[in-house]
Formats: sequence, C-alpha cells, structure tokens
Amino acid sequence: MKLRYEEVTLHLKHTFRLHGGSKESVRILIAYLEQDGLIGLGEADPSKYYGETPESVKSVWDRIDFSNHRDPFLYEPIYNDLREKFPNDHAALAGIDIAMFDWVAKYWQMPLYQFLGLDKSAIPETSFTIGHASEKKLIEKIKEAEAFHVLKIKLGTDFDEDIIKTVRKYSNKPIRVDANEGWTREEALKKIKWLEDKNVQFVEQPLKKEDIEGHAWLKEKVSLPIFADESARVPADIYKLRDAFDGVVIKLMKAGGIQNAIEMARLAHRFEMKTQISCFLETSVAISAAAQISPLFDYADLDGHLLIADDPFKGLSLEDGKIMFNDNPGLGVEKR
Ligand code: MG
Repeated sequence: MKLRYEEVTLHLKHTFRLHGGSKESVRILIAYLEQDGLIGLGEADPSKYYGETPESVKSVWDRIDFSNHRDPFLYEPIYNDLREKFPNDHAALAGIDIAMFDWVAKYWQMPLYQFLGLDKSAIPETSFTIGHASEKKLIEKIKEAEAFHVLKIKLGTDFDEDIIKTVRKYSNKPIRVDANEGWTREEALKKIKWLEDKNVQFVEQPLKKEDIEGHAWLKEKVSLPIFADESARVPADIYKLRDAFDGVVIKLMKAGGIQNAIEMARLAHRFEMKTQISCFLETSVAISAAAQISPLFDYADLDGHLLIADDPFKGLSLEDGKIMFNDNPGLGVEKR
C-alpha cells in the first residue's frame, strides 16, 4: 500500500460558538491509500481537546511503513498493529481505517454499508447543531434547520434558559441538549429538571469528563437520559461509564476509526446503553463513513459537513431528515 495525503483548511459557514471557545476554520487531512491502481479515501480531523494536531497526524502517517502491509484486505490486523504503535493518535488511526474500508468496499464494488452487512432502512434521523448565539441569530439558525426533524442545542452558558425559551418559541421539534462539560453538579440538576417538560430527547455531557461519580449522582435524580461524550473515547471507557450514563456519543475521530466505533456501539448496547454516532467539523469523506455505519446506532448527529462552506467532496444528501449516501462503491464520495 502507498499513502499520499493533503492538508485542507475548511471554513465554517458561521462562526461556531460553544462552551470553551469559538471557531472559524479547521485544518484537516485527507488520506489517499493506493493499492493496485485503486484509491481508498480517508480523513483525519485532529482534536486539540485530545492533544492532536494536523502536525501530529502527519508525523504518524509519515512513520507508518506501509511496505510491511500487503493490502487493505487485512484491515483488521493492520489496524491492531497501528493501534498498538500509536495508541493516542486516534484521528490519525481513523484516517487510515476509513481509507482501508473505502478501498476494500470499492474493490468488491459495494457501498460500505452493504460490505458491512448493515440495513440502510435503519439509518436514524440526524440532528442539526445550533451553537451559542443571540436571539436574532438563533431564529435564523432555526429557519436554516427547516429540513431537519431534530435540533441539537449547545448550552453551558449563563443564558441557557433564554436560549431554550427562544428555541421553544419558534420551533416545536424535539431537541437534544449538549452542555459540553459546562455545568456544575447543582446547576446541571436544576437545569435538567427545568428541561424535563421541554420536549428534550437527552442531555450530552453536563459535567466535566472526569466526574463520572457526579454523572451517576445526576442520573439518579433526573428523568432525562444523560449521554457521555467527552467522557467516552474508546471501547474500554464503556465499562467505566455503564452505571453513570444512559447513553454514549461515539465519533470516528474520537474512537480511532470505524473498527473501534463499531466495537464501542456493540459494547454499549450490551450494557443497555443508547448510542449516538456523531462527528466533528468534517468533510463528506468522514461523514459518509459515519453515515454508512449509522444503522448500528440509536441516534445520529452528522451535520459536520453541512456547517462548512467549502466541503471539497460530494456524494451525500439529506433525505427525510437523514444523512443519506448514494449506492456507489465504498464511501460513494468524490472531489467536487
Ligand atoms: Mg457533544
């Protein structure tokens, strides 16, 4: 196998504000994994939160000796080998894992979901994310989200009640709330109780990621399901979180690719936890990979490519509130 890659800067349609800062652009890497004239596409979206950067991804990719690996048919042992060598570089691992799956599915002339034996009719509806904004901007964003059936509202501010009141004034769609670790225990208890009759499906990561005990305390006291996002990175985390959370948010870049994400989802379901497949700000390459495995999840939050103004790839659509891929082989995405 041969790996070539390029760095791309993605610009956001709107400045994205959430607890912990704001963003106008992100730097990501696209992987082109070649074998026998066929190219598998992959993507790495490094997260500073987990200590990864475009430079750290490139340094991992530069150090992989692909001459040891005959072809992507052996994606399982190749992935295990890389996971052992680079245990903390999850976005870098995800990029290679996605590219191997795209390659193999393309080789067999099948869309990835079909290669994995998944049921397209089980794709869950996606939410559309609304970050912190003024009332005027919130109203604009609610309009922009017209085609979506579920809204995801970012909280963790001093004006959380105002945000929810505005959303509820202009939309009666179900909402998912994400505090991004922005609340204290008592604040979370008060706010979640207040949210209980506001048509909320669940609450993501109310407390700091290390505060597993606090989440367990909270879960006993509220009726809305509590999901772990920042607290849940890899399959082994599920064992630590099973009693403290009702559900878990799984992302390809956080988990380290398709193989780890599937393992996490299966493990969570075994412990009767709900699952959501989610994303960072990503192009259609990584979003298609997530959408193709989304039939394995209870919920989807796959709007990352729709929040950027200059996605270099195409191939996805929105159908009846769901992120839908086409039936072309592999991820079914190509350059615009
Ligand atoms: Mg989240």
